[in-house]
Amino acid sequence: VIVATAGPIDLGPLLFIVFGAALFCGVVFAGVLVLAARRRAQLVIEGAVANVDEIEEAENRLRLLGGGPQPVFPGSDDFLDGAQSSMLAIAQARAAHQLETVAALLTPDYYETLLAEQRAAAEPPAQLDVEVVAARIDEREPGMPMQADPSVRQDIVVAWFGATLRLHTADRRGAPLIKTTVTAQVWRFVRAQGRSDQADPLLAARLCPNCGASLGDDASGVCGYCHQVTVGNTQGWLVGAIEIQPLT
Ligand SMILES: [Zn+2]
Repeated sequence: VIVATAGPIDLGPLLFIVFGAALFCGVVFAGVLVLAARRRAQLVIEGAVANVDEIEEAENRLRLLGGGPQPVFPGSDDFLDGAQSSMLAIAQARAAHQLETVAALLTPDYYETLLAEQRAAAEPPAQLDVEVVAARIDEREPGMPMQADPSVRQDIVVAWFGATLRLHTADRRGAPLIKTTVTAQVWRFVRAQGRSDQADPLLAARLCPNCGASLGDDASGVCGYCHQVTVGNTQGWLVGAIEIQPLT
């Protein structure tokens, strides 16, 4: 007769299994949480879906791209400051569908182009945060014939901006969603040739920043010759084109 002297049950292996299973579930659960967090932070980058690390990587690339040599000319530092202010104001006005508020910063043609885009826009107005990561002057072409009227000459300066854009929008269920885009953009600025870099009040100068025509006594704030909106841009640089560059 074999008496099974079943001693106290050895719980060791069982506990090991239970703890092991719990640990495994915990790791899986934590993984799901991390993924969910990533998905919430998952962001739209030009041409690619990315997470926070990728955004940092893209921003570092922008810093490298922005560090190259750039043309220097009298007033180029002031130019870049003013250009950046214009860029911020225009980008935010576009996102908010309030382009009318920045008409004085755009050439008449480009204003019309962007206004048409705004009217046709499918996305609702949204708040946009812009973080300029790097900025530089790309090129400068003084005294170029104006496209619409070659008898008028303009100074052209092309500015390059690397920026992270955060658009405060909503998902399909209406929950807040921030769409982040890291982008490199080329902005073309024009100004009537020979305008002073001194921040002379435009109304004192009474000259159109776009074509240089005299504004005379007209108080409408619109140039009678080229229809530039002239109020509120003392430096006189106007944005004539914006081009998004692929971030490679
Ligand atoms: Zn004009």
